[in-house]
Amino acid sequence: MAILAALCGFGAPGIRAQRTQFKPGWNVFSPQQDVNLGQKAAKDAERQLPLCKDPNVDAYLTQLGLKLAAKLPTGGVQYPWEFHCVNDKAVNAFALPGGYVFVYRGAIEAADNEAQLAGVIAHELSHVALRHGTNQATKAQAAQTGVGIFSAIFGGSVGGALLTQLGSFTAGGVLLRYSRTAESQADVLGTQILYDSGYDPRAMAQFFEKLEAETKGKNPSEFFSDHPNPEHRIERVEEEIDKLGGLPANPKRDSAEFEGIKREVLALPVIKKEAPSAPVGATGPAGPPPAPSPHFAEYQASAYTVKYPDNWKKYDDSESKSVSFAPDGGVMQGSGGQGALAYGIIVNVTPVQGDSNAANALENATQELLSALQKDNPNMRVARKSARVRLNGQPGLSTYLVNDSPAGGQETDWVITVIRPEGLVSIVCVAPEKDYQKYDKTFAAILDTVRFPK
Ligand SMILES: [Zn+2]
Repeated sequence: MAILAALCGFGAPGIRAQRTQFKPGWNVFSPQQDVNLGQKAAKDAERQLPLCKDPNVDAYLTQLGLKLAAKLPTGGVQYPWEFHCVNDKAVNAFALPGGYVFVYRGAIEAADNEAQLAGVIAHELSHVALRHGTNQATKAQAAQTGVGIFSAIFGGSVGGALLTQLGSFTAGGVLLRYSRTAESQADVLGTQILYDSGYDPRAMAQFFEKLEAETKGKNPSEFFSDHPNPEHRIERVEEEIDKLGGLPANPKRDSAEFEGIKREVLALPVIKKEAPSAPVGATGPAGPPPAPSPHFAEYQASAYTVKYPDNWKKYDDSESKSVSFAPDGGVMQGSGGQGALAYGIIVNVTPVQGDSNAANALENATQELLSALQKDNPNMRVARKSARVRLNGQPGLSTYLVNDSPAGGQETDWVITVIRPEGLVSIVCVAPEKDYQKYDKTFAAILDTVRFPK
């Protein structure tokens, strides 16, 4: 009966809710610029990432990817689709604007069947068609420079510097930092593509669910750092499957080709990850950061105000509630793929455990902060023990740390902590060891400008 009902439902599209329709968000780039940008960034990515270099695997990914792309609504845009296999055990995948898709061997190995791998690829293709990368870049650029982007559009071309910056894979991390809304859209459109290609439309959500369950309590999968988990992911996908008319009668789940390719991938030699020999991100046309401007801009937070060189940019991290100030080229790709500060300062306000008026509250809170930092940075160590200082008349502690620099080599982190009613205010001044002397005076000048409300 259930099958009969499903079949009847199939024949009568009028009674079904319509599938969700999307249109790409605000974007100052043209689809052709997506392709140009993506192509440049993909060349960079191919240089930086270990590739599987297995013709069978590449051919398989390409035919699977093209089959799915054929069902993708692109609004008439022809993307040059390229599919690459990355020899990295991380369960991950990403797509650069314009259709350059990178699937990690870890994702192929973790997929239980072809439908799950197709689900991951369909999700990536959806990011391309909905142009989430350059939409994100549009928003980021507008937030950073305000009117800058408009003058670029009305000036007849999107700023060349922006294009250059984004075209470099590492500096272009912004192209892959999707919002949860974008993730949800890629899930829903990806599910439609799976459905239209005859695959089990539940496969993508099932794969994400499995990934989440397997990494519970551990570090979340790399996939979720590029593709943050939207709320009600599974429910949203199920809702869409209902709109599509429910599960198709004989959905495709697996294939002999997939099983063969998975075995071939499992047998590929594992490439050991080496620390990048050249400073990643600093090798681009931008070079080392420009010298700090002697003119300062002001930033006001509720717990403090601070001034910083006016040729530095402010970066808000809404998740950790920290604010960073960095010169151009000061933010690089960290080992986990996220943005990492190589030059600049990070200001953070963290809640204090226990009584913040206790005699040793500052010492304890500082110790807690340092332990938390060391947990995230296993190679970080204290170079100079905490010493008492004053900041805007308030008692504080000054601590020097040594850590691996995302620019290569070691970095010095000068940490100043002060207890305020809002919590522990920490200011971390960061520069590679080799350049630290060039920044020492700027850091001291920045600290001199810190004011706490009375
Ligand atoms: Zn995604």
